[in-house]
Amino acid sequence: MSGAHSVAILGAGPAGLGLAYRLSLRRKFDVTVLERGEKVGGNAASFPLCGMRVDFGSHRLHPSCAPEILEDLRSFLGPDLLDRPRHGRIRLRNRWVHFPLKPLDLAAHLPITFLAGVGVDGIARSIHRGEGETFADVLQAGLGKTICRDFYFPYARKIWGCDPAELDGEQARRRVSAGSLSKMIRKVLQAVPGLKRKGSGRFFYPRQGFGSISESYAGAALREGVKIKLLTSVGAVETVGGRVRAVQAIGPTGQEWVNADHVCSTIPISQLLRVLHPAAPDQVLASACGLQFRAMILVYLVLETEQFTEFDAHYFPNSDIAVTRLSEPKNYGLADFPGRTILCAELPCSMDDPIWRKSDVELGGIVKSALEAAEIPIRSKIAGVCSRRLPHAYPIYLRGYKEHFARMDQWLQSIQGLVTFGRQGLFAHDNTHHALAMAYAVDECLGEDGEFNRELWSRRRHEFQKHVVED
Ligand SMILES: Cc1cc2nc3c(=O)[nH]c(=O)nc-3n(C[C@H](O)[C@H](O)[C@H](O)COP(=O)(O)OP(=O)(O)OC[C@H]3O[C@@H](n4cnc5c(N)ncnc54)[C@H](O)[C@@H]3O)c2cc1C
Repeated sequence: MSGAHSVAILGAGPAGLGLAYRLSLRRKFDVTVLERGEKVGGNAASFPLCGMRVDFGSHRLHPSCAPEILEDLRSFLGPDLLDRPRHGRIRLRNRWVHFPLKPLDLAAHLPITFLAGVGVDGIARSIHRGEGETFADVLQAGLGKTICRDFYFPYARKIWGCDPAELDGEQARRRVSAGSLSKMIRKVLQAVPGLKRKGSGRFFYPRQGFGSISESYAGAALREGVKIKLLTSVGAVETVGGRVRAVQAIGPTGQEWVNADHVCSTIPISQLLRVLHPAAPDQVLASACGLQFRAMILVYLVLETEQFTEFDAHYFPNSDIAVTRLSEPKNYGLADFPGRTILCAELPCSMDDPIWRKSDVELGGIVKSALEAAEIPIRSKIAGVCSRRLPHAYPIYLRGYKEHFARMDQWLQSIQGLVTFGRQGLFAHDNTHHALAMAYAVDECLGEDGEFNRELWSRRRHEFQKHVVED
């Protein structure tokens, strides 16, 4: 494409591919996507397992997805974008409650002492109202002691691997959509027929797995002339006089330099900082160590039975059960998989933990024991076990992370032609539809004259702060 502005996109997850597709439509950009993995989709990819497609843990597209994005997805996936009811369960004080929460189910299944505790907390809260700086303070002020003690605090310890008091309050504001008793009551009431909001209690899911979202963006972008280089890591981002010039791509056949007027990065912000050439100042580089990501092991068990349970996902806040969430992919997308089903167990951890190096057989044993402890033992034959590892599953908002992030972000923003976005790029908890919204916003900010509208981007970034993650 002669005379076109060259754009290198780092990472082929939903954010990178969403941008590649949008830019390709305008035919003014010569776009190359560099992806370290062997396939597209990042953390939101799917892969085949024993004849079925499975995701990296429980993934669903939430109905709060922007209409413009949903429209594109509908045009890619047509009737294969299923609209499904949510049907999960939470293990709370050794009982099961439905998720999403339902008033009658709560009344029938929650221990009376729990309900009484929440009631007392509600009254106490109206007398003693307070905000706070930590995850623990914010949630305890919003939801009271009982819900925090029995659900959010043990769940937070498992998911992020640290005490709720070590986490910044932002983690509660961005990660807990029902952060106050009134919001929680509103959510519960949404289950009542007649009070339902459109889309509540439902989700979208592509029949062939969540990864079809990224694959369809990739397919559409390729048809418009975008180049996607898989198994290709970013070795360096070269800048000259404070402006990006090229990206070093290290792929299966060696290394090459890809010229770039613009580098749009969705790789972890700390990684991006480390590959800048010339290097960022030491103080900025030191901040890259101040941002921590939680890793995750996904353990898949192939069972010789039609269905394990009728539920799409089980949530386990308690510390005595190693798994945080168990999903049964067949129940999400109505997969045609006769005589078998697959379970996917999520085990958040650190890459330094001994569990990170355990074999599939050992991991299968851990999941089996966890399900026995939760009183849903596996009774059918296990035909196979395999695992996958995500090094960057969740950002951890440890207290003090904001200063580190701000220092890195400020440095990166000073480089002309460079923009960082997506879940890893902005160190955000965001869902896929949020990552796609960021991609569409980058496209909006990149003018056909090759100028990037920083003021508009800053306004869009401000709006992203309002994203609240849904589970
Ligand atoms: C267990 C789990 C469950 C989730 N459930 C949901 C859900 O139900 N609904 C929902 O909407 N969202 C969910 N999410 C979030 C969803 O996965 C993310 O929103 C989405 O993947 C973000 O897309 P992204 O493109 O910003 O980042 P990523 O998907 O992380 O993509 C970044 C890409 O960059 C690549 N990369 C990294 N470093 C380099 C390098 N040096 N060189 C080249 N490439 C590199 C990576 O390989 C990756 O492909 C879940 C996440 C997890 C971990």
